[in-house]
Amino acid sequence: MLIFQKSQPGRVGLRVPPLDVPEQELPELKPLRRQQKAPLPEVSQLEVVRHFSRLSQKNFSIDTHFYPLGSCTMKYNPRINERIANLDAFRHLHPHQPPEQLQGILQVLYETKQLLKKITGMDEICLHPVAGAHGELTALLLLRALFEHKGEERPFVLVPDSAHGTNPASCAIAGFRTKKIRTGADGLVDMEDFCAQLDEKVAALMLTNPNTLGLFEKNIAKISQMLHQKGAYLYMDGANLNAIVGITRPGDFGVDLLHMNLHKTFSTPHGGGGPGAGPVGVKEEFRPFLPYPDVEKQGERYGFSPPPPHTIGKVRAFYGNVGVVLRAFCYLRSHSWKDIGNIARMAVLNANYLLALLKNAYPLGYDQKTCMHEFVLDGSSLKKETGVRTLDVAKRLLDFGFHPPTIYFPLIVPEALMIEPTETESRQTLEAFAQALCQIVQEARENPQLCANAPHHMPRKRLNELQAARNPQVIFEEKSNEKRNQALL
Ligand SMILES: *Cc1c(COP(=O)(O)O)cnc(C)c1O
Repeated sequence: MLIFQKSQPGRVGLRVPPLDVPEQELPELKPLRRQQKAPLPEVSQLEVVRHFSRLSQKNFSIDTHFYPLGSCTMKYNPRINERIANLDAFRHLHPHQPPEQLQGILQVLYETKQLLKKITGMDEICLHPVAGAHGELTALLLLRALFEHKGEERPFVLVPDSAHGTNPASCAIAGFRTKKIRTGADGLVDMEDFCAQLDEKVAALMLTNPNTLGLFEKNIAKISQMLHQKGAYLYMDGANLNAIVGITRPGDFGVDLLHMNLHKTFSTPHGGGGPGAGPVGVKEEFRPFLPYPDVEKQGERYGFSPPPPHTIGKVRAFYGNVGVVLRAFCYLRSHSWKDIGNIARMAVLNANYLLALLKNAYPLGYDQKTCMHEFVLDGSSLKKETGVRTLDVAKRLLDFGFHPPTIYFPLIVPEALMIEPTETESRQTLEAFAQALCQIVQEARENPQLCANAPHHMPRKRLNELQAARNPQVIFEEKSNEKRNQALL
């Protein structure tokens, strides 16, 4: 129900006290002045609170449900981060204030950069990009600028077929063409295909590590060497940093450029497109091309460095999504340096435990026995046997109170279910989820219609997803789905 449908003429949420000064006519500001009253709902405060509280509970969220969305790292976001990011001293800052008035936040930005350097082993960090994909684009623009500076023509970037869709998209926007690299049966880069495609026209390989199947690319150091021998570079999509943070460093295994997703690994509530931060880490060679302004330490103070000599310019007004960087800083500082690797250890342990609970019910999408922080199941045998697709399984999971995993990604696994439990879930939650998924497999065999028509216990039944996106009908009656009030749309 829309809040407009609760409206009663004359009902108000707030009564303004009677006027105790002489009444003034509003100046005639035609055409700015309204000719008619604004069409606002007339409701009480309590109705407003109930309306929005009710709407908020129709959704699944990390705060209410297990949310094993593969690749997205939907972990608990410690509330202390929110408390600190909401302090007036941070919230009321404006980027146009002079640096003397911004010392605190500049120190946070500077120190976050130092922490991220230490974690990644890279020589410099740029905090400006505001999403993972934006980080990819920024890094590829740095790559292009470097080759333009060298006067070398290298139009191609190699991208494995398991890559996130943002990888080839970023290449295209940055003016590169992509060549696809096959994934082997073991779920890793097919070295034969990689060698065959690597030549002097290749600018870089964009490699996700751990990759989207949840596997560590064990040949990565060798891959890096081979690229360097051909004068090309290794870009690492570091969105899956949660699996290796504090354990191993991309800078040490030959990565030249990378992006991280602060909103994933370092905990910011995200989803539905934001907010995020996708800092880029680079090796020394790329420093002269970095965006500006950069925060630097000037004696005891913090200020801005001059633009680097060959800067690609700005990728964002000001200094990036400062609120997200601040949350990441709080998260990092609330872990001691010694135990930061426990994030990855627990994430990997949880994923392997869940995998062990599920592997008899569902085949894995590749030929490996263990995984890193996530794994990909292959629903194609269930579909062949029962007609129940991965989409149906995902919808049925809603009835059990679980947000479904990522489905149909990566593209190389048919009927893929990509599951990332993260380190913040308890053993009991993992077991309950595994039990639900095993029960759904059982249901698929005994009563496939039950899955095909799921969900059964949600406010809405199965939507036509295409039409729902193209022609959203935001109004529905609690009892009758048909009755829609077009006039109110
Ligand atoms: C999430 C993700 C991205 C993109 O990050 P956004 O912040 O959503 O732009 C890129 N690659 C991988 C592997 C990811 O998981």
